[in-house]
Amino acid sequence: MHAVVLIKQVPDTTEVRIDPKTNTMIRAGVPSILNPYDANAVEEAVRWRERLGGKVTVITMGPPQAKEALRKCLSFGADRAILLTDRAFAGADTLATSYALATTIQKIMETEPVDLVFCGRQAIDGDTGQVGPGVARRLGFEQLTYVIKVDEIDPEKGEIQVRRVVEDGIEVVRTKLPALLTVEKEINEVRYATMPDLLRAARQEIEVWTKDTIGADPNQCGLKGSPTVVSKSFVPSPPDRHLQLFEGDVAAQAAALAEKLSHLDVFAGRLG
Ligand SMILES: Cc1cc2nc3c(=O)[nH]c(=O)nc-3n(C[C@H](O)[C@H](O)[C@H](O)COP(=O)(O)OP(=O)(O)OC[C@H]3O[C@@H](n4cnc5c(N)ncnc54)[C@H](O)[C@@H]3O)c2cc1C
Repeated sequence: MHAVVLIKQVPDTTEVRIDPKTNTMIRAGVPSILNPYDANAVEEAVRWRERLGGKVTVITMGPPQAKEALRKCLSFGADRAILLTDRAFAGADTLATSYALATTIQKIMETEPVDLVFCGRQAIDGDTGQVGPGVARRLGFEQLTYVIKVDEIDPEKGEIQVRRVVEDGIEVVRTKLPALLTVEKEINEVRYATMPDLLRAARQEIEVWTKDTIGADPNQCGLKGSPTVVSKSFVPSPPDRHLQLFEGDVAAQAAALAEKLSHLDVFAGRLG
């Protein structure tokens, strides 16, 4: 089984600040971490490789320092790491990001098959959750989002069965490989890397690929390939909460309050 895991290095969001003039994230001096959901994605891929044999390849598109995040994935047990980095990728929105990542996977598939692609449910900085589905669509892979458990991977039959979270419960889905999964944190507990793991990872090669390595169309990369425009970004202010104490005829007061609230648009919509 060959599993590819897409991982992203993200700023530690508890420390994120927005530049009020440019509306962009201030990255300078902000510590970077491996996107937490992606750590679970790597863990799941490594666990299945331990059961079924095969290989785990981790890929990130990012600046040269994203190598640190790849190194961490190698210490968790990944076999191969590819950093996709090029000035042409700068300013990519989710459309251009999924194009670059899907094209990289297609390049890999010229020499070896890929059975599964694992992604995190979302990146904690961009937060869109669009990259995984975008990559699946471009590759023509089956798409399994919000996965909390992989029940079975049957390489003989070329099938996978997972449990995914839906609005009102859990859905069990069985489908054909190749497939792309986006995973929730509940799927597993990420292992700690031991000292021998860290030493092994430090010696492993990280391949550096550019737009030319994957033969990407420059018009679909980076800013050129990004139709999204960020008109404003801001840190939301804390919710405005008030405490009101009811005494005496509580039922009558509650009815009066409900009547008042029903005139607000948001409640009128819900109450019909
Ligand atoms: C106009 C515009 C310009 C932008 N310019 C930049 C920029 O210059 N630099 C920048 O860092 N961001 C930039 N961004 C943000 C960038 O679009 C997103 O961070 C990126 O597309 C991923 O989207 P997301 O963070 O919402 O990921 P999600 O869709 O929430 O991520 C889901 C999963 O997809 C995978 N994934 C996501 N991103 C990557 C990646 N890069 N490599 C491998 N796997 C990945 C991971 O498994 C992740 O868990 C820009 C956005 C816009 C709209």
